[in-house]
Amino acid sequence: MTTTSESTPHKNTIIAMTLLLALWMAPFAASAEDLASFCERLPRPAYAAFAKHAASNDWFEIYEVGPGIFAIYEPFQWQEVISYLIIGIDEALLFDTGNGLGDIKAVVDQLTDKPVAVLNSHTHFDHIGGNFQFDKILSVSTAFSIANSHGVENDMVTMEASPEALCKGLPMGVTQAGHRIKSFTIAKTVKQGDIIDLGNRKLEILQVPGHTDDAIALLDREAGFLWTGDTFYEGPIWLYFPETDLAAYKQSIARLAALAPQLNALFPAHNTPRASPTLLPETQKAFDIVLAGKATPVPTWEGVVTFEFDGFGFLMREDYTSLKED
Ligand SMILES: [Zn+2]
Repeated sequence: MTTTSESTPHKNTIIAMTLLLALWMAPFAASAEDLASFCERLPRPAYAAFAKHAASNDWFEIYEVGPGIFAIYEPFQWQEVISYLIIGIDEALLFDTGNGLGDIKAVVDQLTDKPVAVLNSHTHFDHIGGNFQFDKILSVSTAFSIANSHGVENDMVTMEASPEALCKGLPMGVTQAGHRIKSFTIAKTVKQGDIIDLGNRKLEILQVPGHTDDAIALLDREAGFLWTGDTFYEGPIWLYFPETDLAAYKQSIARLAALAPQLNALFPAHNTPRASPTLLPETQKAFDIVLAGKATPVPTWEGVVTFEFDGFGFLMREDYTSLKED
């Protein structure tokens, strides 16, 4: 973090208050606690299980987390987002393209010479930033996904490129004032049950609305692999946005939890690249406890609370019980 040991408490208080004010006003607000601590939790122990791939650079760390499956991780930006390149014998699929701060196309070009299609786990800004670099974008068609394909202006994402959100400088040529999510063109729409055939590997699209209306998971039935997007990751799952539908999330997490006995690994979109499928039924159970009002909320910032469980949590509006739950 940028706060130095010479700072006076008074200066720290002003910095903290300014940061908090900015966070309350930001549409995609970060937790102040998250911002203050995320650099210290690096490197996450889970990465010790994998060798860092030679295509890694100053911004992206790359890990082969399954055969021909590359996690493209952005550890130095507080979202710690993970995009995945899945390579088949005929084609490759890039599941998410990150924040758009680093050049993800250059990394992908080093990893494969197969034709690459892009598909997003959902269209929050931190998963679609590099979409503009690719020609073939597959997407579900919802109001949210179509709106986001037009890009996101600097004022909505400027905090994501601010010193407070970073553990190191931005990639060369990238500035906070210039950072925005560029628009992209959807080449083909996809829907529930569609199969993406990469040659020797078939990926099935599961529409799992909740976190957003366009959220999907990707299932490789043969290998028992599930890419969960932001429907599950090891950390506080963000469920406080206006575009989040808690009743839909409840159904979607139950659907994924039911798959757990057939799965060998989860590949989530933040924090850690390979997680145990047993976490899905645990998440379902925990979410039901929260909805039943039986979990203890931890105040996080104005109007938002966290429910903490072992290995994951939920970030929710404190008035969540009055929201869309049927
Ligand atoms: Zn998201």
